[in-house]
Amino acid sequence: MNVMDEVDVTEKAGGISIFEQTSKMGHEQIVFCQDNATGLKAIIGVHNTVLGPALGGTRFWNYATEEEAIVDVLRLSRGMTYKAAVSGLNLGGGKAVIIGDVTKLKNEAFLRRFGKFVNSLGGRYITAEDMNMKTSDMEYIGMETKHVTGLPVEMGGSGDPSPVTAYGVYMGMKAAAKKAYGSDSLNGKKVSVQGVGQVGMYLVNHLVKEGAIVSITDINQERLAKVSSDTGATVVGMDEIYDLDVDIYAPCAMGATLNDNTIGRLKASVIAGAANNQLEHEGRHGQMLIDAGILYAPDFVINAGGIINISGELAGAYNKQQAYSWTEKIYDTTHNIFALATEKNIPTQDAAMKLAEKRIEDIGRVKLSM
Ligand code: NAD
Repeated sequence: MNVMDEVDVTEKAGGISIFEQTSKMGHEQIVFCQDNATGLKAIIGVHNTVLGPALGGTRFWNYATEEEAIVDVLRLSRGMTYKAAVSGLNLGGGKAVIIGDVTKLKNEAFLRRFGKFVNSLGGRYITAEDMNMKTSDMEYIGMETKHVTGLPVEMGGSGDPSPVTAYGVYMGMKAAAKKAYGSDSLNGKKVSVQGVGQVGMYLVNHLVKEGAIVSITDINQERLAKVSSDTGATVVGMDEIYDLDVDIYAPCAMGATLNDNTIGRLKASVIAGAANNQLEHEGRHGQMLIDAGILYAPDFVINAGGIINISGELAGAYNKQQAYSWTEKIYDTTHNIFALATEKNIPTQDAAMKLAEKRIEDIGRVKLSM
């Protein structure tokens, strides 16, 4: 694994064999799961297990092609390796995707069959929630395997990770403000938030409480109106968000919003948000942000609150207070990444990846020692 083996998040697997792709990205194992009776088609990606079992959610999505699903599972599982490593967790990176129409396919038998496949990996892969999967789905999966997290609180699980994720993003944003403006106070700072779903909504609450001047946008007009009336945040148009005169832009909806079309339009000096894979192209767009004078808080560093929360569930009795205090360390981690990026004169994303790779290398060596 190496920072230089970067992968364009829009890259298609077409034309490249799966082994070529996994060798380039450093995956250990890809498992194709298929069951005619339930209609289950899933792929489990185990990227790296040096630090511990590969943890990562299961995404249920109606992919247009199998290639799209493969690219997604490869990219997402690799991202989890970096996220766990940079967060100081003893976990590796994995992810699963289930292919198909969630409204037609998802039922008890379907989910339990998937649970059986997860179980067949004997704990090398631990699953959790992701898009179109809920805590109640984890309960069914949990009937067939103990290698599942994100269970409801009443079952001893850590429940919805979104509030903790939002808290981590808030910590990362404060660290970025400190670097860019000399103070981590967000009081009076103009912040735009793209997407006020689970994480975005909790983030807006933190920001408003601290006295930030917040603008929000979302596809979902009902949700947008509710968050605006609850918090006093100003509603702006979906495209308008890129041209706003703000200090900080927080992408909290979908990935790849930092690209050739948007970076030149942004007026913010800081980008800090929850969305995964915000840079459309890790290397090129990381450099473009530097050239534009924008400080980027790497997404996988500051949105790690969810996985930190889950690691508390894996450690035994889940303790919410402890999960928040671990998540608070995102402030220091983000600060260290900025320092390394400045010292080496490299994009912050590369610095974060280097720190993650160094930890995997160092701890891997420790594990091999007597
Ligand atoms: P969510 O689905 O609850 O919220 C996403 C919101 O974005 C929705 O309200 C949706 O309507 C809106 N949206 C979608 N496309 C949009 C667009 N083009 N413009 C504006 N708004 C748009 O998801 P979430 O759990 O809040 O997660 C938000 C992001 O953070 C995702 O990228 C997710 O992968 C990432 N993330 C979430 C967690 C977590 O704990 N939930 C952890 C790590 C990363």
